[in-house]
Amino acid sequence: MVKPLMASETAKSEPIAFIDLKAQRRRIAAQIDAAIDGVLTHGAYIMGPEVRALEERLAAYAGVRHAVTCASGTDALLLPLMARGLGAGDAVFCPSFTFAATAEVVALLGAVPIFVDVDADSFNMDAGSFERAVAAARKLGLRAAAVIPVDLFGLPAEYDVIVEIAQHNGLFILEDAAQGFGAKYRGRRLCSFGDAAGTSFFPAKPLGCYGDGGAVLTNDDSLATAMRSLRVHGQGSDKYDNVRIGINGRLDTLQAAILLEKLAIFDDEIAERQRVADRYAAALSDLVTVPYVAPHMSSVWAQYTIKLENRDNVAAYLKAHGIPTAIYYPLPLHRQTAYRDFPRADERLEVSERLSRVVLSLPMHPYLDEETQDQIIGAVQGAVSGGR
Ligand SMILES: *Cc1c(COP(=O)(O)O)cnc(C)c1O
Repeated sequence: MVKPLMASETAKSEPIAFIDLKAQRRRIAAQIDAAIDGVLTHGAYIMGPEVRALEERLAAYAGVRHAVTCASGTDALLLPLMARGLGAGDAVFCPSFTFAATAEVVALLGAVPIFVDVDADSFNMDAGSFERAVAAARKLGLRAAAVIPVDLFGLPAEYDVIVEIAQHNGLFILEDAAQGFGAKYRGRRLCSFGDAAGTSFFPAKPLGCYGDGGAVLTNDDSLATAMRSLRVHGQGSDKYDNVRIGINGRLDTLQAAILLEKLAIFDDEIAERQRVADRYAAALSDLVTVPYVAPHMSSVWAQYTIKLENRDNVAAYLKAHGIPTAIYYPLPLHRQTAYRDFPRADERLEVSERLSRVVLSLPMHPYLDEETQDQIIGAVQGAVSGGR
């Protein structure tokens, strides 16, 4: 005789997702399918009408003049630096506690990333370390050229302070908003605080497509024109007379069509992420260090990252209880093989190194229901009290 399935077993048969893209898909399946069908019908796969429509919507959303879509978040950081002509002899200040792409684009252009430490509460660029990095660049005979503040885990960098230091030193400001698109700083959405901002539509980002994609946002007309040329091999007004050395960096029409549908529910999804974050904070703040969001900011919760001393034991306990977690980032950039020989602000970037040992990201997405969240909370409570 087959044993009847209990309700609790049905729930268990669906493993808890770290990021549940399938739930979002179920919500807007009809709209996405129609959007894809529209592209398949008109057939303009490259630079079709959805690309231009998306650029208009993204620019309006972020409150900037131009959105230049491109093939990835990495290209969205590369294109503005190329347009500025960055290269040998230029120093670009990057936080060490970030995803590799932030510094990768700098090194690819032959410029020098200089690693800056971060603040332990915000995970974002530390002002004092930034100033020491500018001094370090001068000592090395490099031209202090640009800074790339990152809005890590969806939380804005401290723009008032970063922008002031950057302007004082004549730096180009490129915001790495790959994780922070949609978040607010002093009531204004990110991507207008620097000279340009790059964001990513990688599927796991808060606004993700069904593959790779990205966009640069800027108020600078000539920068936008240069980037539109650079993303298509540096083409000029005559398509076969290239006026710059560029890349093949376009966003697919299909991805633009998908993003238009996802952008329509984005604000609602941000509110849902906030709901999840609030419940996590209420339940966990006595046990672990939960993320701190300063009153003049909002986060889009690309990750919900807690800090705890016995991180690896807790992660193992959670895994054994069916709770997926992730470690962003287990190794700061200045300690990674490809990056460890680049200069840094200080002999040791102590906060970045310490964070890499204590951070743990919990499941976070807009479709995390309260029952599942309570399971996660209960497991963290069990792990922390048992692991002591
Ligand atoms: C994801 C990410 C990028 C790169 O985006 P891709 O679309 O994967 O190329 C750059 N910077 C940060 C901080 C990111 O999280």
